[in-house]
Amino acid sequence: MEIITIPCLQDNFAYLLICNKTKQAAVVDPSEAAPVKTTVEEHGVELTTILNTHHHWDHVDGNKELSEYFPNLSIYGHDSDRGRIPGQTEFLKSGDEVCFGEQTGSFLHNPGHTSGAITYVFGKFAFTGDTMFAAGCGRLFEGTAAQMHDSLNLQIGSLADETELYFGHEYTEANLRFALSVEAGNTEIEKKLTTVRALRAEGRFSTPTTLAEERKTNPFLRCTSTEIHSTLQTKDPKQDLAEKMVFKTLRELKDKF
Ligand code: ZN
Ligand code: FE
Repeated sequence: MEIITIPCLQDNFAYLLICNKTKQAAVVDPSEAAPVKTTVEEHGVELTTILNTHHHWDHVDGNKELSEYFPNLSIYGHDSDRGRIPGQTEFLKSGDEVCFGEQTGSFLHNPGHTSGAITYVFGKFAFTGDTMFAAGCGRLFEGTAAQMHDSLNLQIGSLADETELYFGHEYTEANLRFALSVEAGNTEIEKKLTTVRALRAEGRFSTPTTLAEERKTNPFLRCTSTEIHSTLQTKDPKQDLAEKMVFKTLRELKDKF
């Protein structure tokens, strides 16, 4: 399987997934139709499928125009997003497969950012939408900090270290600056910040990341870090150091960062 990153809108990413055997393709989170059409045509593939990670407009707004242009698209989303994802045809429930061309994947239900948020998994590639970003996680619009903690740490966190994570927005630089603000002694964060600034200066993007890198640099996967604990206790001596409480405080601090 080949993956093409398609920058959309201000800082969104759609991804074109190409089945090399059949030259059929799926697009993850088409925020807008035009750049997706262009990419599909450039690669000479047949778009058969849309994979939406959640219902937010900046992830589904291209659905309607794409389904008019490319007939008979299968449009995947979580079952609970019924009525919220334009043109949805596939309503994913626990255990369902996700298919296009000769590719078969699975999904993780990741409540937190929204109640129907999912991560698509095809072998070593995972598409996390706004649940997990490089060095960060999505805002809590429809879920609790505890749910988001579990979505990141227990679900996405259960994938293999070498899993490549393709996320929904180019927020990496700001996320790394926040990560450093709570864990100033973490040299892995500093190194990654230097790398990402260089990439961005050249107009390149920081997607994908890997789960191994995230375990070292993403504060939301590092709720047991003693340095993060002492940062939080400096701000509030009564900070509860239980993992989910650390996660909750980090998310609140990030909201104000
Ligand atoms: Zn969103
Ligand atoms: Fe978004």
